[in-house]
Amino acid sequence: MQITISSTTLSLTKGDITQEETDAIVNAANSRLAGGGGVDGAIHRAGGPKIIEECRRIGGCPTGSAVITTGGNLKAKYVIHTVGPIYQDGRHNEAKLLASAYKSCLELAAKKVIKSISFPSISTGAYGYPINEAAEIALKTVIDFIKANKEKLSLVRFVLFSDKDFEVYKKTLEKLTK
Ligand code: ADP
Repeated sequence: MQITISSTTLSLTKGDITQEETDAIVNAANSRLAGGGGVDGAIHRAGGPKIIEECRRIGGCPTGSAVITTGGNLKAKYVIHTVGPIYQDGRHNEAKLLASAYKSCLELAAKKVIKSISFPSISTGAYGYPINEAAEIALKTVIDFIKANKEKLSLVRFVLFSDKDFEVYKKTLEKLTK
């Protein structure tokens, strides 16, 4: 599924983010930037040791922020590492922190003159964020950024790992844009 907002294409696809050819891909990292399971593990496996070396040099990243490294052996030139919130009960600032994670990635991309970027579904795996709520925050944050920063990005992709996640994002995007 894809739509165009202020000359930026926003697309949803099912797949493996490590195969993306956008300028940057986003990693759902942990605050120590130490590598881990899920999408983080997949990105480091596919991208090779240069990425973790840069992560070690950077040292860490607070929840809701983002840092950038090389893409190593990936097709993407850069990896933007962001740290989403661990979901507790929805009363620990989770929604704000999740929106901030997406926004920090988009701001960093714009600053680095990155034109295309792919996101995974941040926080909805090991970090336990309910996907319906997370999808709405993710898509709203991206749409708001695109509208407020015309011409900065040509393509924003969400790469969802399962049919179920893809369907949730698709329904949410239809709801937000109808
Ligand atoms: P978090 O700790 O932020 O919850 P996870 O990596 O556990 O991060 O999960 C985030 C999402 O990334 C989950 O929906 C998971 O299914 C998905 N995911 C895992 N591997 C990949 C991959 N290679 N490409 C895209 N998404 C992936």
